[in-house]
Formats: sequence, structure tokens, C-alpha cells
Amino acid sequence: MPDLPDIRPYEYLFTGRIDSVILPDTERTIQMLRLDLLHPVVSGNKWFKLKYNLRQAAIEEKQVILTFGGAYSNHLIATAAAAQASGLKSIGIVRGLHAEAAMTPTLQACQEYGMQLQFVSREAYRFLKTGEGMASVQEQYPHAFIVPEGGNNEHGLRGAMEIAAYIPETITHVAVSVGSGCTFAGIRKALDPSVKLLGFVPMKQGRYLADDWQMEQENYALIDDYHLGGFGKCTDELIAFMNQFYQINNIPLDRVYTAKMMLGLQHLILQNHFPKEASILAIHTGGTQGNSSIDDKLLQ
Ligand SMILES: *Cc1c(COP(=O)(O)O)cnc(C)c1O
Repeated sequence: MPDLPDIRPYEYLFTGRIDSVILPDTERTIQMLRLDLLHPVVSGNKWFKLKYNLRQAAIEEKQVILTFGGAYSNHLIATAAAAQASGLKSIGIVRGLHAEAAMTPTLQACQEYGMQLQFVSREAYRFLKTGEGMASVQEQYPHAFIVPEGGNNEHGLRGAMEIAAYIPETITHVAVSVGSGCTFAGIRKALDPSVKLLGFVPMKQGRYLADDWQMEQENYALIDDYHLGGFGKCTDELIAFMNQFYQINNIPLDRVYTAKMMLGLQHLILQNHFPKEASILAIHTGGTQGNSSIDDKLLQ
């Protein structure tokens, strides 16, 4: 067995900080678990989903990590940075041929972390995510350890479960953003069953994810009312909300996930959805690097 890499490099500095925050137009204080502070790039939940993948790559003596993502992907950039820090090479399969001509800051940073990018059409990307597609990628890159899009596999789930340990016992309701659902499912698995978990899905009709995951644990809800037009769609209302939240709390949110979750929480609080005695904690899963496309509109 080779020496395993230290899989806690970022958590050494992370204290599990929790801040009290106030949602705009409400008087209710809620708590926010600042996973975004883990690392500027390997931020939030992405590190937890990657750590056991990196370890598995070492166990299998693979020198290369290969993964998938879009032009603004938090997962792609986190993988590039974490692989470099672990002494591994990385390859990123990028969705959309147009992305090569219009390199985003995210993709440029991936390259700076040594990631080799391969651009594929949207159709090809969809195929590569299937079982058959994955097998063809493995054939093309026999020395690579393949991490699925979003870090969503058994190793990702195992890491996501560890997030629950940062949630204080006094909390009765936890809110988290949902993409693939891996983080949500991991936390639900590990969290005390008496604590309600609310997953905010930033895409249309995201509640199908509950079927995908065949959740064994109960006491959760997936809320998909706050997608604001669909995944990645950003409205003036959302930007105004992000700026208001930043002015009050001095905490930046990301436009794709956490801003929509906090907006949803604000609405639920204004509708008196939560009992008076509820103690609510929202998880800041990071991802603010993806705000580069609206930088000029943000105060943060
Ligand atoms: C990737 C991401 C999520 C979603 O995580 P999943 O495990 O795929 O559900 C939530 N928030 C942020 C900021 C992310 O970058």
C-alpha cells in the first residue's frame, strides 16, 4: 500500500466557524456554517466530496485525476487546485465547445493549477457521463482516476457525511443547497434524525432528486421554488438580494447556489414557515469564485 496523502490539509485551518446572520427584511437571526472559509478555491462542500476521491486515487496508485464540469464549475476548479496540492496531475473534460473560444476566469484558473482541459460538445458531454461513456473515457485515459461530475460518488458521499459533525446539537433545522444532491444526501445520512434538513434546489423541477437518491432517512424536504428561471439563471432581484445580504452581514453569497437558498429561506421566514422556537442553520457551501460573470454588479 502506498503512503496515503494527508486528506485533511484544508480542515486543519478550518474551525467550523458559525456566524449569526440576519436575512434582509426579517428580524430573525439564523446561523450560518461557513464552509466557504475552508479555502478560497477548494471551498465549501467541494473539499469534503473530493478528499476520499483523492485518497482512493492514491490507493489505486493513479497519478492523474480526471473529472467533468462546465465553464463556471466550482467542482472543476476545486479539483484542479486539490490535485495540484496533492502532487497529482488533473484533466478536466469541459462541457461545450464554445468554452474554448471564450475562456472563463474559472477555466483559466484551472489551467493555472495545471489542469489539462479537453473541450467536448454538449452532446458528447452528456454521453460521457453515462456508464458507457465513462468506460470510453477510462479506455482513453487508463492511468486516470475518474471522479464523476460534481464529485458525486460513494467517496463524495462519505466526505459529505462529515459536514454533519460541524452542526451544533441545538440546531433544529438545517438548510443546504442542492446540485447533484450528494452533499444533501451525505448530511441527511449523518445528521441526527430529529433535525429537519431542507434542500434548496436551484433548478426547475429539482425535486426528482429525491427519487434519484432513494433516501433511507426521513425528515427532509427538497424545495425547488427558488430557481429564478433555472440553473445558473440570475435576476436583478437576486443580485439586489446578494448585495443587501452582504451589506447587513458582510458575507458574500454565490449566485448559483447559496444566494437562491438564502432568498428561499427569507421567503419562508416571512411566511412564518418555521416555528418560533426553531433554531435554523444554513450551510454556506462556498462557490463565490463563480460570481466573476457579475462582478461589476456586486458590492462584495
Ligand atoms: C456544487 C455546489 C453545491 C451542490 O453540491 P451537490 O453535492 O452537488 O449537491 C452547493 N453549493 C455550492 C456553492 C456548490 O458549489
